[in-house]
Amino acid sequence: MAATKDIPSSILIIGSGVFGLSTAHALAQRDAFKSSKITLLERLDFPAPDAASIDTSRIIRPDYADGAYAALMAEAHPHWRGEFGAEGRYTESGLCLTQDTNADGGDDDAHLYLVRALENVKTRLGLKVGRRENGGQVEPMETPEDVGRVTSCMGGECGKRGYVNWTSGWADAEAGMCHMRKLVEILGRVEFKTAEVAKLNYGKDRVESVELVGGEKLTADLVVLATGAWTPKLVDLRGIASATGQVLAYIDITQEEQDRLGSNPVVLCETNGMFIIPPRNRELKVARHGYGYANLTRIPHPERQGEMITVSLPRTKQDDPKMNISFEGDKACREYLAKSIPDLATRPWTHTRICWYTDTPTGDWLISYHPTYSNLFVTTGGSGHAYKFLPVVGERIVDIMSGNEKDDLGAELTKKWKWPEQRKKVDHVWTDDWRGGVKGMYLDEEMAKGQKEMAKSRL
Ligand SMILES: Cc1cc2nc3c(=O)[nH]c(=O)nc-3n(C[C@H](O)[C@H](O)[C@H](O)COP(=O)(O)OP(=O)(O)OC[C@H]3O[C@@H](n4cnc5c(N)ncnc54)[C@H](O)[C@@H]3O)c2cc1C
Repeated sequence: MAATKDIPSSILIIGSGVFGLSTAHALAQRDAFKSSKITLLERLDFPAPDAASIDTSRIIRPDYADGAYAALMAEAHPHWRGEFGAEGRYTESGLCLTQDTNADGGDDDAHLYLVRALENVKTRLGLKVGRRENGGQVEPMETPEDVGRVTSCMGGECGKRGYVNWTSGWADAEAGMCHMRKLVEILGRVEFKTAEVAKLNYGKDRVESVELVGGEKLTADLVVLATGAWTPKLVDLRGIASATGQVLAYIDITQEEQDRLGSNPVVLCETNGMFIIPPRNRELKVARHGYGYANLTRIPHPERQGEMITVSLPRTKQDDPKMNISFEGDKACREYLAKSIPDLATRPWTHTRICWYTDTPTGDWLISYHPTYSNLFVTTGGSGHAYKFLPVVGERIVDIMSGNEKDDLGAELTKKWKWPEQRKKVDHVWTDDWRGGVKGMYLDEEMAKGQKEMAKSRL
């Protein structure tokens, strides 16, 4: 166990996504921090529309191949089922995890993930196996007919086998974040400021000041970087974590379609990473949990003057309001929609979005003091799966910050999330965590290909 840390008199959290806001919530409730001045800085008015934490929906599931995340979800789930998830913020629709190969197709990575996830929810969480009508909570699906039975209202093919977990579901992501913000406001301990951090001014072994766009400098005993996919601009994370762009597409549906599809489970195909969240308010979302796009960008080294480095950073509709998904991403979403819900195959997207993960090599988060700068704590690396922990992750973050692991799970998580002893010798991290899509796509190249393809289709 790490040594208990001194309590800082001032804490400056930068970034109001899942990690930043939940940290503020936990700090504001702890007696140990009752004399600390807590400030939360966010570059856009909350909720920042291009933050990873802000969207119509996020999957809430304990279905993890890694038992530690399944166990952490067992802590978060009661909150989603209680007041935190009330008023439509959480819907326990079930989650149908499928794969596109059948039993004689071999045991690929998608299959192994499913087998391990099913094992964890059975043994670590004690979920009951069996048909739902007989009181079962998880139902293995051995054949395409089994998958078809669970997803019949979609009318298409959603996979060859897998399992459905009826205790999983999805959250209205933006509503969940707004609720968390309200809980923090009620505590009256956190000062919120809208301002963009331009850079951290680094001394030999500490952050001397936080410089805002416009030049104002702020100082704090402890600086907490929770800036999601933008973090590599403020601290050197080469070989540790990188921004990767993920595709999302939305369509409007009719009330009849809403009634038919609205209580469907979330469907997620482990083979290609594609998923469909059940519609709400006549809007349906198709997306991919993929390796994503790298957006390589030359920037001044965040820690060393006079040096330039190349890192992947987000590009969003804040930078280019006309930015949509690439041709490749559009095609992947369209094909998956056509296959799963043939009725909707040609329905135009109302809007699309590239949303940015902060990927690490293993998919484990980065929650740790910086090894060089003693007053810098970094909490990022969500790797496309942190939202579901919103109600509880702040507690675990503050445990690590304080050097107090309250249980064995805490010790396991601290180890998983610690600053790595060695960086990968690469500018951009392509995760080895389970993903769909192709590894090695670059945003500019894919966007340019899209323009060529669209020009061809107009000829
Ligand atoms: C498309 C997509 C689908 C996902 N699906 C799921 C899912 O189904 N289930 C699940 O559990 N998780 C999912 N996730 C993952 C989850 O949403 C993220 O892991 C989580 O939201 C990351 O939170 P964060 O705080 O790191 O980042 P963010 O939410 O991006 O927050 C970072 C904040 O920092 C601010 N900021 C950045 N730079 C600065 C600066 N210089 N100055 C001031 N403020 C700054 C930003 O404006 C932003 O608000 C998904 C993510 C994406 C992108």
